[in-house]
Amino acid sequence: MPELPSASNFLIEKDMTRSHTGKEKNGGKGLIFSIQRYSIHDGPGIRTTIFFKGCPLRCKWCSNPESLNPYPEIMVRATRCDGCGKCLEVCASGAILLERGNLLVDRSRCDLCMKCVYVCLAGAIEITGRYVSVEETIEECGKDELFYRNSGGGVTLSGGEPLHQPEFALNLLKACKERGLSTALDTSGYASWDVLDSVLQYTDLILYDIKHIDSEMHYSGTGVKNDIILENLRRAIDAKRARVWIRVPVIPDYNDSEQHIERLAIALTEMQVEKISLLGYHEWGKPKYGALGKDYPLDGSVPPSQERLEQLRDIIQSKELEVTVGY
Ligand code: SF4
Ligand code: SF4
Repeated sequence: MPELPSASNFLIEKDMTRSHTGKEKNGGKGLIFSIQRYSIHDGPGIRTTIFFKGCPLRCKWCSNPESLNPYPEIMVRATRCDGCGKCLEVCASGAILLERGNLLVDRSRCDLCMKCVYVCLAGAIEITGRYVSVEETIEECGKDELFYRNSGGGVTLSGGEPLHQPEFALNLLKACKERGLSTALDTSGYASWDVLDSVLQYTDLILYDIKHIDSEMHYSGTGVKNDIILENLRRAIDAKRARVWIRVPVIPDYNDSEQHIERLAIALTEMQVEKISLLGYHEWGKPKYGALGKDYPLDGSVPPSQERLEQLRDIIQSKELEVTVGY
């Protein structure tokens, strides 16, 4: 089981304060892979979403595979390659092959030196992941303050798992509040209670993902059991410091049976959750798996129809819970 980041033991924080070679320090900075402005699916109103890089879960349906590893990586889009050969000249590891104009990267030889990225003018090899300070991230978020105010929006920390970089997440949320920005945290809840508890007072809304109510099934889909996740959810709701909305990704042949949704609804009713969103599985992240040299785990799965999502919504609604399809 992956080790939990805790307030006193920043295991992953230690990893991400180094480069991929493990030698450089990036003190105080966080590792992110994207800042998305004008986001409308990550909390109320118009938001800026900060996507953290690094996650302790391995959900088979993850639409952001570049978010998983807690270090910068290369993404290779061979169709953009014009065959100039410049990357071959700088790759001391011999990881790059150009066979009859086809670009191939042997990732077992690649040491992530990133030299190829800087010579590739075609954009066929790119970096995903960069270290940013709290100050520069807040500066970026501040550009849309007017939109947040007019729409009831704000800043959302997402990923990846923001709580996997607890210090940076906490400092970023604090800085948002100091600037008067509304905050949301999109989390799997897979963190120590200390970590979750430490961010609650700076978080207006938690978007709390529940994948499966059965712990063994949770493990089979994500690589971790759900005991800590459900316990943290109970405690976060009881703490009453942040609002808590549940998000359930609806995955075919995994958690989309009537029986499972009924069981989930009963458990969430007992916990007195405020709102549930059912988010249908989609394949939008599939091309990114290829760019990272990974196989797509759910190849052949068919996204649920709107009608099916509405049937499942009705089951939850029958327990008198507020539920939406989509955000
Ligand atoms: S990042 Fe990898 S493929 Fe690119 S030059 Fe360095 S070792 Fe070669
Ligand atoms: S530098 Fe870029 S365009 Fe040139 S061969 Fe390498 S990947 Fe292709």
